[in-house]
Amino acid sequence: MKALHINTPLLRAAPGLFEHPEVWLKMDALQPSGSFKLRGVGRLVQQSAAEGAKAIVCASGGNAGFAAAHAAIALGLPVAIVLPLTSSAAVAERLAARGAEVLRHGAVWDEAHEFALRLAAERGAAYVHPFDHPLLWAGHSTLIDEVVEAGVGFDAVVTAVGGGGLFCGIVEGLRRHGLGHVPVIAVETEGASSLKASLDARQLASLSAITSIATSLGARRVAAEAFERARSHPTHAVQVSDAEATAACIRFADAHRVLVEPACGAALAAVDRHAGGFGRVLVEVCGGMAVSLELLRSWAAPTTIKP
Ligand SMILES: *Cc1c(COP(=O)(O)O)cnc(C)c1O
Repeated sequence: MKALHINTPLLRAAPGLFEHPEVWLKMDALQPSGSFKLRGVGRLVQQSAAEGAKAIVCASGGNAGFAAAHAAIALGLPVAIVLPLTSSAAVAERLAARGAEVLRHGAVWDEAHEFALRLAAERGAAYVHPFDHPLLWAGHSTLIDEVVEAGVGFDAVVTAVGGGGLFCGIVEGLRRHGLGHVPVIAVETEGASSLKASLDARQLASLSAITSIATSLGARRVAAEAFERARSHPTHAVQVSDAEATAACIRFADAHRVLVEPACGAALAAVDRHAGGFGRVLVEVCGGMAVSLELLRSWAAPTTIKP
């Protein structure tokens, strides 16, 4: 089966972007769905189609939803994306423009998710979870295959962590290539640090709320497997602020002329703050659709205090 994602460029970071002298960028922002998510979601959707799924259902107004829509349409399957009532009209329009059926249900993601599970069962459809499925991790792990095939060596990997699907995939790819000793710097924003919460508690823990602008990192609880892999693989869980993530997005746009979400800016911001001690650093530039020049400007603007 030919994969639905593309082999993305692996670029040496532009001079001056980081203080660190050797940083490699895996440019998954350039995937046709706008983020790395197509790697795993594409794998899951293909496998489900091969097993007879008649349609695809996903509860995500974020990059998982865009990846599910892209993958289903590429395979000629109908696709329904369930959004919580709070999600923006713009996201619904963009998904519909790609040919997805958009349904709205529930006040929060958990309610949309429950509804989507029932809908998938009724329709004989495969359900695409945004981060918690072994096929997703297997699909995400292909990014490490590509770096190894390119012959570029690295001494640490920097990646953003939301629900931990991407992190699971990276650890899986490292292990497959005998690189189980290479540390992963797992970056969250303050206000979305559910991996840190679990590692601190030494058991799976849930955040009571998400308060970061990096909404793609906003899983209140990570996948159980992400917690397990963070404990069994050399992992440094670190945090950056929303302001640092936004500033990194702007510096990256100037240097490489590509826009990424603050979720991805978090990983970029962590390079000089948290990876200075490692030799060659590989950064997963995970990308994201929920960004524009206007949004970046509004996040970067200092909060005005009215007199
Ligand atoms: C989904 C996503 C993440 C987080 O991935 P998880 O698998 O949930 O940890 C980070 N950045 C972007 C742009 C995403 O879409």
